[in-house]
Amino acid sequence: MTTATAALAGTTAVHTVEVELGARRYPIHIGPGLLDDGPRLAALAPGRHVLIVSDTNVAPHYLARVEAAFAAAETGKRVAAHVLPPGEQEKTLARFGELMSVLARLGAHRDATLVALGGGVVGDLTGFAAACWMRGVRFVQLPTTLLAMVDSSVGGKTAVDLPEGKNLVGAFHQPAAVVADTATLATLPDRELRAGLAEVLKYGALGDAAFFDWVEANAAALRARDAGALVHAIARCCTMKAGIVARDETESGERMLLNLGHTFGHAIEAEQGFGGLVHGEAVAVGMVLAARLSSRLGLAPASDGERLAAVLQTLGLPTALPAGLEADALLARMRLDKKNASGRFRLVLWHGIGRAFVATGIDEAALRAVLVP
Ligand code: ADP
Ligand code: ZN
Repeated sequence: MTTATAALAGTTAVHTVEVELGARRYPIHIGPGLLDDGPRLAALAPGRHVLIVSDTNVAPHYLARVEAAFAAAETGKRVAAHVLPPGEQEKTLARFGELMSVLARLGAHRDATLVALGGGVVGDLTGFAAACWMRGVRFVQLPTTLLAMVDSSVGGKTAVDLPEGKNLVGAFHQPAAVVADTATLATLPDRELRAGLAEVLKYGALGDAAFFDWVEANAAALRARDAGALVHAIARCCTMKAGIVARDETESGERMLLNLGHTFGHAIEAEQGFGGLVHGEAVAVGMVLAARLSSRLGLAPASDGERLAAVLQTLGLPTALPAGLEADALLARMRLDKKNASGRFRLVLWHGIGRAFVATGIDEAALRAVLVP
């Protein structure tokens, strides 16, 4: 069960989405200026030690403000920060070990709180560190990318990568709260913003046709970083994800729908390697391929796929496979996907906009056909 409420503070609306997972419950606060709310942040970290983890792109913009907010709350806590280099290649066991050593040197105990200030990389790594330090301590997410606000900061998945593959070592560890200061999106590079918008549209595509219509109508405002449009979109996505995660925390059913476009997308990312499409861009192409496969199999009208591609283009996203990728190589990658069941392809397809479902035993020839440019 989830509830969304909007409270007006002056002229600034802060939306709160409650995530309920069995007996546990935590809020996602969404709105501009939340990083400066010292009392709110301090209340989320009741123990003696706070470790803020960030990266070298985010810290120069926002770390001092978060530290100042904690200091202004005058709680006498020991607040430390650790800043990492940016990028997925830093989501390693070595960086995880570094965080463990930092916590040990601080003398942090079970009452410590880890605060992730950054995008999905910082969030995944910090969350995993929080899951492991003294067998699990409090963790607060301060996401600063659109992707992290609508996706990775919600749902409790934490992980690091191995040379053998992404997210292979991790844990489910729910945050005590997610505080998404939408004003931080002002400094996000444009490509990262667009990549996040692909995941925003994904929510409409998978389960909410009315939201899909809204994104279609507000695409220009979203790309222009209109504050009201972004807050609305983030709140809607978080509400949907919170509902899905509450009903299926460990991804045995409905949560799989959040992977719309992702099996194709991950294959593209893996084949291209570093320097290719970023995650959200690969997911955009992947959603178009999933729609095309659905209509090829007679499961959905082709016109819905065309509409999806048109909205993605308006959002500044790619909709076709990048040149130079071999269908067989992509197929081989897709065969390794965790979601496949006993050697049969399992993919998220749709019956049309807002109606995704999990399809098993997909015909390989049909799948191959949509991978040929
Ligand atoms: P994700 O897209 O999964 O959230 P990252 O954590 O890698 O991924 O963030 C994407 C990039 O954007 C990184 O280089 C990160 O340092 C940078 N970044 C994150 N948030 C901001 C921000 N608010 N302003 C500027 N750069 C940011
Ligand atoms: Zn994704």
